[in-house]
Amino acid sequence: MSEGAQAQLGGGRDAACPVPNCPIPVDLILRSSDKVLLGAHKANLEHFSDGFPSVDSVSDSEEPVDLSEDGATLKLLLSGMHKQKLPALTGLEREQLVALAEAGEKYFVYGVMAACSERIRAESRMPWDGATAATYFAYAMKFGYLEIADTVAPFMIPFNVDFLCGRLKGYDVAFIAWIRYREQYVAISDILTRNYTARDLFDSVNFVPCSAWAPYLTGIRKRLPMSVQGHLQLLNGAKFDRLEWIFKDHQYLLKECTCERCSSAACRWKERWQEASWDIKPFSSFM
Ligand SMILES: [Zn+2]
Ligand SMILES: [Zn+2]
Repeated sequence: MSEGAQAQLGGGRDAACPVPNCPIPVDLILRSSDKVLLGAHKANLEHFSDGFPSVDSVSDSEEPVDLSEDGATLKLLLSGMHKQKLPALTGLEREQLVALAEAGEKYFVYGVMAACSERIRAESRMPWDGATAATYFAYAMKFGYLEIADTVAPFMIPFNVDFLCGRLKGYDVAFIAWIRYREQYVAISDILTRNYTARDLFDSVNFVPCSAWAPYLTGIRKRLPMSVQGHLQLLNGAKFDRLEWIFKDHQYLLKECTCERCSSAACRWKERWQEASWDIKPFSSFM
């Protein structure tokens, strides 16, 4: 890749603009956290960003300005401050994408901010692991992208509370909102593990169901996780199909029912958690 305009400043140090064949003269040198020197244009920094430590703050522009971002991030950021298409973000690793997004927010490079948040929004709809969800969630909370937080929050239902508390240091409102969001699923776990006795489900104190009921009840209870954490894992992604399947899977046992009340009792049990699931509110409604 050919480099753009070169500058020889500060005793022979040279640094090129990261945009290939850029015709604009380099009049400022930036140094990344990993000591990469990059050529920049004061006018572009002024024009495309707010808050870049550039023109006014640098009295001796022959000395490189140290920034806390790494070289790869700064290259992309500076490329985004030219009259040209923004660099493609599709191939970026998750860490690199978030680092660029954070740099864009920090220096108010509006084009980069918008491109990165759009990219992260798109990525957040794909299936992923918990670590990715936590990274995007922390980014969304830091910079107020509630829609992204709503998309990733379902994948964080089984998260350990202390782990997320660590990830959201300084964002107490978001942490408390997440606890309240998660609590909705804890309540479903509660519904699944309580209120399943014959007395509850047959709406009668004295009614004794027929012999079909006990195997049905035992079968489902055996398949349901025996802990809150297990239930949160079962509902990860805010998906109820696995739970639905457990109930469906045992329906055949009620074919032998002779009391004619087992099926409606089974429906009642299912309805309790289904109704709770329909009432689930998105994460942002707790903010
Ligand atoms: Zn340039
Ligand atoms: Zn029955």
